[in-house]
Amino acid sequence: MSFIESEERIALRAAVSDFAKGYGHEYMIRQARAGERADELWRAAGKLGYLGVNLPESHGGGGGGIGDLAVVEEELGAAGCPLLMMVVSPAICGTVINRFGTEQQKQRWLPGIADGSTIMAFGITEPDAGSNSHRLTTTAKRDGDDWVLSGQKVFISGVDAADAVLIVGRTTDARTGRLKPALFIVPTDARGFEFKPIEMDLVSVDRQFQLFLDDVRLPADALVGDEDAALAQLFAGLNPERIMGAAFSVGLGRYALDKAVNYANQRNVWGTEIGAHQGVSHPLAQLKIELELAKLMTQKAAFLYDSGDDAGSGEAANMAKYAAAEATARIVDQAVQVHGGNGLASEYGLGTLIATTRVGRIAPVSREMVLNYVAQNTLGLPKSY
Ligand SMILES: Cc1cc2nc3c(=O)[nH]c(=O)nc-3n(C[C@H](O)[C@H](O)[C@H](O)COP(=O)(O)OP(=O)(O)OC[C@H]3O[C@@H](n4cnc5c(N)ncnc54)[C@H](O)[C@@H]3O)c2cc1C
Repeated sequence: MSFIESEERIALRAAVSDFAKGYGHEYMIRQARAGERADELWRAAGKLGYLGVNLPESHGGGGGGIGDLAVVEEELGAAGCPLLMMVVSPAICGTVINRFGTEQQKQRWLPGIADGSTIMAFGITEPDAGSNSHRLTTTAKRDGDDWVLSGQKVFISGVDAADAVLIVGRTTDARTGRLKPALFIVPTDARGFEFKPIEMDLVSVDRQFQLFLDDVRLPADALVGDEDAALAQLFAGLNPERIMGAAFSVGLGRYALDKAVNYANQRNVWGTEIGAHQGVSHPLAQLKIELELAKLMTQKAAFLYDSGDDAGSGEAANMAKYAAAEATARIVDQAVQVHGGNGLASEYGLGTLIATTRVGRIAPVSREMVLNYVAQNTLGLPKSY
């Protein structure tokens, strides 16, 4: 592994950065406050091939890896306009279909996911299961060749914009009678499928939804991959999710840190710029170090994933997601502090980031569940649950 990015990746960064400056944080806030999505940005990014850089060229993608998609997300974030649905549609759903789907499923879904004309949401979280995915109760029963799905999901992002949702359900093991996870593509216009927005205290272009699946009948090919290997397939999709979650946070961290530094270089209340006071400069320097470390771990996780090391990338992806979310939540808090009263003035665009970056500590996997993972898997400590 080289610590220096390839020329292609550096060029991708520069191109996305230029493109994203045409939208920026102001665009996102304007859209969100008007109750609108960031469709224009999404479509333009799709047309330029940025949304599908990780998907194979044979199915409309750019032929790169998750490291490339993470660079796109980070640069959008650094301009203040990261796209949450990139974490879901091309990273989780695109990866799972590309790795485990049939040729027919790939042809049906990947070209649209790659150019952004198709959006697939992802639904695992349930009201009574939350972090404990062993308690999922959305079940899929066979009826002839069909599947019939029933259950509920909560906090599912972007369903209003999605053509389908990749649902994590459970099927009954014919031998043991036990429930085991399985992945299904559920079109959002399927009969028996309903979704309701959840009021959130987030100023965001992406909304969260509660899903109701009431005997949703699906054809046999709605199942993705092998019914008996769904757990491994699920994890193969969740590592890109964590890597992209980390890239999302790193990008926003860069955005907020830049704003703090610019302000500290200009604001003068004692005859010198406030950035000269170490009470202002040291926290920013510390956070810059933390952000760079989080970015390095994100790059390591992406490198391991793109090299085919699912197990190794799992540990690195969890650590990267944790480190990036922590660094960025603190950066935004400090950026608000550096701006004084202006930190909460709408004109400066930092106040809304407090809630946005706080999400990184909760989703897609909570800070505590990452710490559980590291405690048990990396350190070999016992489990309490
Ligand atoms: C903005 C947003 C977007 C989201 N988008 C999606 C999406 O698109 N698809 C999707 O499926 N989900 C999505 N989620 C859901 C998200 O993944 C969950 O909120 C998250 O996994 C936590 O689950 P929970 O909210 O049920 O919390 P709970 O599981 O109820 O946990 C509550 C608290 O208890 C802690 N806790 C729980 N168990 C343990 C334990 N064993 N040890 C220590 N602490 C523990 C948790 O860390 C957390 O702090 C989204 C959430 C948000 C906020």
